Amino acid sequence: MDDKVKDLLDRIRGTASVAADAAADTARVAGKKAGQMVDVAKLNVQLFDLNGDYNEVMRQLGQVMYDTHKGQAPEGDPVTQLLIKADELAEKIAEVKARIADLRQAQTCPACGAPCGKGDKFCRTCGQAL
Ligand SMILES: [Zn+2]
Repeated sequence: MDDKVKDLLDRIRGTASVAADAAADTARVAGKKAGQMVDVAKLNVQLFDLNGDYNEVMRQLGQVMYDTHKGQAPEGDPVTQLLIKADELAEKIAEVKARIADLRQAQTCPACGAPCGKGDKFCRTCGQAL
């Protein structure tokens, strides 16, 4: 690994706590927005869009990494912004997935993690009492 990419990775590690704080704020907003949507189909469309945005941020991060390796480091600090955006999108994706599971009245088995119906008394996969 060359020094420029190593420096970049060091800076990425340095952004971890800042990005986490920003993501916590965004998650609260995302929760409210998702709470207004009641339709699973709409949530699935939202999830599809969020996954697309997330993949685009990952692509851009990879591009910055490779440009840095090639000695063409971008001006400013796009990495921090991209990492914050990635955290925001990951939180939103988790929120929408949880909302979809909730609307489908699903619960997760605490023992094996299998999806179960809300009214189930025992896990259909492992038999754990729910
Ligand atoms: Zn189970």
